[in-house]
Amino acid sequence: MFPDFELCCSAFEKYGLSLDKQIYNKLVIYSDFLIEYNKNVNLTAITDPADILYKHFIDSIIMLKYVDIPSNACLIDVGTGAGFPSIPLKIYRPDIELTLLDSLNKRITFLKLLCEKLDIRSAFIHGRAEDISKMTEYREKFDVSCARAVANMSLLSELCIPFVKVGGTFVSMKGPNEDISLGFNAIKILGGNVSRETSYSLENEERRIIQVKKISHTPTKYPRNSSQIKKKLL
Ligand code: SAM
Repeated sequence: MFPDFELCCSAFEKYGLSLDKQIYNKLVIYSDFLIEYNKNVNLTAITDPADILYKHFIDSIIMLKYVDIPSNACLIDVGTGAGFPSIPLKIYRPDIELTLLDSLNKRITFLKLLCEKLDIRSAFIHGRAEDISKMTEYREKFDVSCARAVANMSLLSELCIPFVKVGGTFVSMKGPNEDISLGFNAIKILGGNVSRETSYSLENEERRIIQVKKISHTPTKYPRNSSQIKKKLL
C-alpha cells in the first residue's frame, strides 16, 4: 500500500517540499496503476510503494527546488518511460504544458491510460528524439526539455537541446557516476551553455541536476541520425 498522507507529508517536508491532499490522491492513483500495469508490461524495476514515493515521485518533483520553470512553460520529457520526471511535475505544477516522448509504444500506451485516470492533459509522441526534433512543429519549440536516466550527457544533449527555444533550458537529472564534462563539447556545438550544476542527496544517494541554457540556435545538421550518433559522440 502507498504510504499514508501524514507519512508522505513528512517525506516531502524532509526535502523542503509541501504536499496537499489533492496532489497526494493523484500520487496514490499513479502508484497503484504503475504497480498493476507493471505486472504485464515492463515499465520500472521499482515496485515497492515506499520506494516509488522516494525514487520516482520525490526524485522527480525535487527538480522544482533547483530549476525555475516559468508559469505555463512548454516542457518535453525525452525518454519519459513510465512518466518520470514529468508526470509528477505536472501533478505538482498543473500549469505546465506537457509533452511526453518515448521510442517505445507500449510506454506511450500506458501514459495515455495514466493521464486519463489522473485527468491530466498532455501531448504524446511515439518516436525517437533524434527523428522528432527534426520536425518543424517540435524543433526549438519548448521552454524546457528534460530527461532522467536516458543516456550519457553527450548523447542526451544531442537528443534534448534541439527541442529547446533559444532562451530555454535543458535539464538533465543524473546520478553521481558520470563525468558530465564529457558532454560539454556537444552542449556547445548544439547551442547550449551549462548554467548550473546542483548536487544533493536523496535517501543517501547522490543526485545531480545539470541545467543547460540555450544561447544560440542548434545547427540544422543536428541531431544526426541514430547510427551516426552511435558511431561517434560529439
Ligand atoms: N525517464 C524515465 C525514468 O527516469 O524512469 C525512463 C528511463 S528509461 C531507463 C529510458 C527511456 O528512454 C526508455 O523508456 C526508452 O524507451 C527511452 N528512450 C531511449 N532512447 C530514446 C530515444 N532516442 N528517443 C526517445 N526515447 C528514448
